[in-house]
Amino acid sequence: MALKHQAPRGTRDLLPDDSARWAWAEQQTRLVLERYGYGEMRTPMFEDFELFARTSGESSDVVQKEMYRFTDLGERELALRPEFTAGVLRAFLEHGLGGRARVHRLWSMGSVFRYGRPQKGRYRQFSQVNCELIGSAAPGADVEVISLFVDLYEAWGFRGLTVKVNTVGQPASRREYGAKLRDALAPYAARMSEDSKRRLEQNPLRVLDTKDESDLGVLRELGTKLPRMLDSVDAEDRAHWDQVIAGLESAGIAYELDHGLVRGLDYYTRTAFEVHDPSLGAQSALGGGGRYDGLIEQLGGNPTPGVGFAIGMDRALLVMEERGLSVELPDTVYVVARDGMRANVVALVRDLRKMLRVECDVEGRSFKNQMEAAGKSKARFVVIAGEEEWARGEVALKDSKTGEQKAVKREALAGEVTARSR
Ligand code: AMP
Repeated sequence: MALKHQAPRGTRDLLPDDSARWAWAEQQTRLVLERYGYGEMRTPMFEDFELFARTSGESSDVVQKEMYRFTDLGERELALRPEFTAGVLRAFLEHGLGGRARVHRLWSMGSVFRYGRPQKGRYRQFSQVNCELIGSAAPGADVEVISLFVDLYEAWGFRGLTVKVNTVGQPASRREYGAKLRDALAPYAARMSEDSKRRLEQNPLRVLDTKDESDLGVLRELGTKLPRMLDSVDAEDRAHWDQVIAGLESAGIAYELDHGLVRGLDYYTRTAFEVHDPSLGAQSALGGGGRYDGLIEQLGGNPTPGVGFAIGMDRALLVMEERGLSVELPDTVYVVARDGMRANVVALVRDLRKMLRVECDVEGRSFKNQMEAAGKSKARFVVIAGEEEWARGEVALKDSKTGEQKAVKREALAGEVTARSR
């Protein structure tokens, strides 16, 4: 039978086994964010197109090629969010959060949409965890955010991550650096992609962000001869940078300087950072972020500094799966009813489900079939309810991990399973 419909290109369905891994990762995420004292922001999945066009930068790939832009029935120009920061800051201003406290720590998690060419680790709908620390220009804020960034990966089981860091200066020093970069790259323009030729004119830093092989060839060839942003920043930015680096050292965070790191969106100032995982191939960026001190003002707010990041959950989960990083799911209990015990078991199962993950037969199958189903279910515990034990207030509990089977008082059953699960 030919299927009439398939999921749209670049989107994925998560089936229950996948979803269980996602739910576990999301739970770990919430735990870490709670410990860091971040509050959750849930903003709309679509916003005015203008909001993203303004914040991401007109010449960024996201605005030029990747936005899911549409006009609604009321002739409004809207776009599905391609990232979180713009919407979070819009909400921050709309609800006057800036007037309530000086520093705000905010996070969000959910789907974002970009019209890219789908491939491994690159989808048109994907999920991000996004964090913002708004209201502090201090280097300590950058360090806290980077430390949270690394600790989220650690909570998912990643070890030994190295964060790539760079400074992207301020608009003025970036213009100066852009001019130097243009001069250095112009002689090679003929060998570069059409996109990069255009960027060389409009926004030369974007060339450093290229994925095109011939562009990358030119960049590799020039290597250390390319001018470096760190040499173009002013004294204040340099001092900020030095303190961020010292902070990373104190926090014990492994970092590496990457002079080519510019980030894909135009709003960053000073610190920029990313982590990559080579196992993902061309789409190796696991997450990234940076400081955006001019952005809130650009959106019509009072000048307010901020620093944040976005982590791509899909890629993190791909790496976790490939490496077999463990996802801890709760042990399951399979309850089996002997003849005449079905009605009692319905009540027992309902009761156990207040605390435990429980499976059972709902089709009135024979004892033998239920035992087979329990075996196939991979449940760690099998509870067998038989008439005689039941009359004594007991059931049989089998622990497949230890192979042990014993009679347990019904009221002690949940406690016994919980204790063994630890
Ligand atoms: P960005 O804001 O572009 O740095 O995105 C943050 C993170 O989101 C990246 O580091 C990726 O892990 C992830 N990401 C970006 N684009 C995609 C995509 N098309 N599909 C899956 N993940 C993505």
